[in-house]
Amino acid sequence: MREDVLRVDGLSTRFFTGEGQVNAVENVSFDVREGEVFGIVGESGSGKSVTGLSLVDLIESPGEITDGELWYRDVELADELSEEFPEAVDGEYVDLRGVPEAVRTSLRGTSFSMIFQDPESSFNPSLTVGEQIAEAVEVQQRASSRPRSTRSRTDSEAYSLGSLVLSFALPSRKYVSQESHERAIELLEMVGIPDPVERADEYPHEYSGGMLQRAMIAQALAGEPDVLVADEPTTALDVTIQAQVLDLLSELQEETGMTILIITHNLGVIARMCDRVGVMYAGEIVERGTLEDVFRDNVHPYTEGLLGSVPDLESVGGSLDPVRGNVPSLLDHEMEDRCYFADRCPKAMEACLERPTDARVEADGDHLVKCVLTEMEYGESPPLPDDYFAVEGDNAGNDDNANGAVDSSDGTVSADGGVSR
Ligand code: SF4
Repeated sequence: MREDVLRVDGLSTRFFTGEGQVNAVENVSFDVREGEVFGIVGESGSGKSVTGLSLVDLIESPGEITDGELWYRDVELADELSEEFPEAVDGEYVDLRGVPEAVRTSLRGTSFSMIFQDPESSFNPSLTVGEQIAEAVEVQQRASSRPRSTRSRTDSEAYSLGSLVLSFALPSRKYVSQESHERAIELLEMVGIPDPVERADEYPHEYSGGMLQRAMIAQALAGEPDVLVADEPTTALDVTIQAQVLDLLSELQEETGMTILIITHNLGVIARMCDRVGVMYAGEIVERGTLEDVFRDNVHPYTEGLLGSVPDLESVGGSLDPVRGNVPSLLDHEMEDRCYFADRCPKAMEACLERPTDARVEADGDHLVKCVLTEMEYGESPPLPDDYFAVEGDNAGNDDNANGAVDSSDGTVSADGGVSR
């Protein structure tokens, strides 16, 4: 079996807002194996993107990773840090939460890269696409030529403020080196951008959405990462371009052997790309396992609901069956100490009024589910009165205008829906 490249253990990320503490990611654990594609799927607001940003240490105030360990396998790094930070090293693994921020920063863009949700707002509009990819190339070059402890984005002549100012004052002065620029052109070519030499000198607004997504993939690949986190990599694209981008990611993954973590609300993307998958709901991973575990042998009613709401081309004209109700508030003072899915779950019982824990479906397997149904049959515990949640709270379980409602007549799915075509 392939070794784990990443072990996430008990990760919690919170936002401390004026309205109170938001538990965006709550005690999340999963592992990602070398060279695999791991998917995280769930509705909008379930904590998927915050999980991805936590992995690459990009949570900004008022957010904070409050708990958990992020074990990353890097033999050389483990060796370097074992004396100074013995508690953050376990064999070939380093707990990224237990080492200084400078070490985590040095890994970002090199060992870890991220494709962000919206390429149009992720590129700097005042620099050419080529310059921005070349900048990522230089980050990687500096990282590989110096010890991690001395790496910094600001100590290089090429990145000094003076250099940047001169690059605007003197057009002939390049912000990045010629060598990096040439590598940027190679990367643009690798991701299928036509006329990459000319395109490298163009600005982001001159690219179409699909090309900009490819350019962002090129930028993410500049650091030759071990782990690529792709957050909704195809959301803003039309269906044809979506397919091209997914094919491209598959090809690059095969070529480079990198590990990919895909974050998406689209079960089609998961089915097409992933080896294993985690289903997220209200900040928790409620079911995880292989594609077959989750798509065919699923146990959690939320997973079942997501799959049940996928439009079926065989029954055109029929009504779809969405996951009814709303994603609960993640404000700490509003979260009930019970299964967070209980007020939407068609199988809720009295036993669900206590917090379920992760349980294995098979004693020796890796299919884990956070639901009482892994240990008891539906009906073994007394049912809840029909109006239980309608009386207790305002998240009625049968809200016909719920998020995730799907209209089969035009095949669209609301932005907050669990599934899209
Ligand atoms: S624990 Fe109960 S309410 Fe929660 S998903 Fe399982 S059956 Fe439904």
